[in-house]
Amino acid sequence: MNDLIIIGGGPAGLTAAVYALNKRLNVLLISEDLGGKTGYTLEVKGYEGHEVIRGGEVVEKFKRQLEYLNFAREIDRVTKVVAEGNGYAVHTQSNKKFQARAVIVATGAAPKRLDVPGEKQLIGKGLSYSAISHAQLFIEREPAIVGSNLRALQAAAEMANIAKQVYLILPDKGEIDSAFGKKLRANPKVKIFEAPLKEVRGAEGVESIVVGDKTIKVDGLFIEVGLTPGSTIVADLGVVDANGRIAVNCRSATARPGLFAAGDVTDVFIEQVLVAVGEGAKAALSAYEYLLNQ
Ligand SMILES: Cc1cc2nc3c(=O)[nH]c(=O)nc-3n(C[C@H](O)[C@H](O)[C@H](O)COP(=O)(O)OP(=O)(O)OC[C@H]3O[C@@H](n4cnc5c(N)ncnc54)[C@H](O)[C@@H]3O)c2cc1C
Repeated sequence: MNDLIIIGGGPAGLTAAVYALNKRLNVLLISEDLGGKTGYTLEVKGYEGHEVIRGGEVVEKFKRQLEYLNFAREIDRVTKVVAEGNGYAVHTQSNKKFQARAVIVATGAAPKRLDVPGEKQLIGKGLSYSAISHAQLFIEREPAIVGSNLRALQAAAEMANIAKQVYLILPDKGEIDSAFGKKLRANPKVKIFEAPLKEVRGAEGVESIVVGDKTIKVDGLFIEVGLTPGSTIVADLGVVDANGRIAVNCRSATARPGLFAAGDVTDVFIEQVLVAVGEGAKAALSAYEYLLNQ
């Protein structure tokens, strides 16, 4: 029986593993990969980024520290977490079962895709799913945002503050009739199209999009139609909220004793590498405190 199983090897899971190892816990990390979504960057023609602290570099350091420390890890997909005895059983795709007194779920969230022609090829080349991360690359440019939920509308508002022109593509009404949506409609920098995105075009990077029967020249495209949290593995444990996120308190603990969660899979604001790093550290220290008290 392990003290702790961490599921997910992204920024949250890797950081949790480093902290748990520092506390000399008997820890097992189970993940499909090491690094998670830290490799998601965005190239925009003619723009050179100047970040002081790069999330990817911080995570790389944790990864190197983990490679140096000899610890237990399994590259596998977790299919289910089940409450068993005084702890949990974690089942994987390769039909293995691992047990621990405490578990941290750090499985992240996947951006929803539209699966339109050109989308897959242009990911990272002017096409992003995270305006929160990359809006700043579009100063005095002309990007488009697809989506009608509050997240998409907020992205359009943020972008309108810095861009020359913003195209907001609404696949449906969504939140556009809300007070926030009405403000956007009144913003001269935001041009709204109420039609589905049909295609993304460009050779080296995004150059234009096809919306309904129109082709619009753009510098970049943000698809903001939502995120799918990787919470199905704990769906039967009563810890997932209406949006599919794992509900945690300020100690990263769920309503179930010994079950913790960190990073994008939780209901914590907001999805950023450095936030996930901090949340992962907190979850490990919280799990450690829980185990001490057992
Ligand atoms: C397009 C895009 C661009 C982004 N750009 C930036 C940026 O520039 N700067 C920034 O700070 N943030 C950025 N973000 C956000 C950032 O990537 C996330 O906030 C961060 O990676 C979350 O870390 P995490 O550990 O919670 O999850 P993730 O990084 O998603 O890691 C999840 C881990 O869990 C594993 N996993 C998932 N399900 C299972 C399972 N069932 N069994 C086993 N393993 C599993 C995965 O393999 C992965 O290792 C971006 C996000 C996207 C989508």
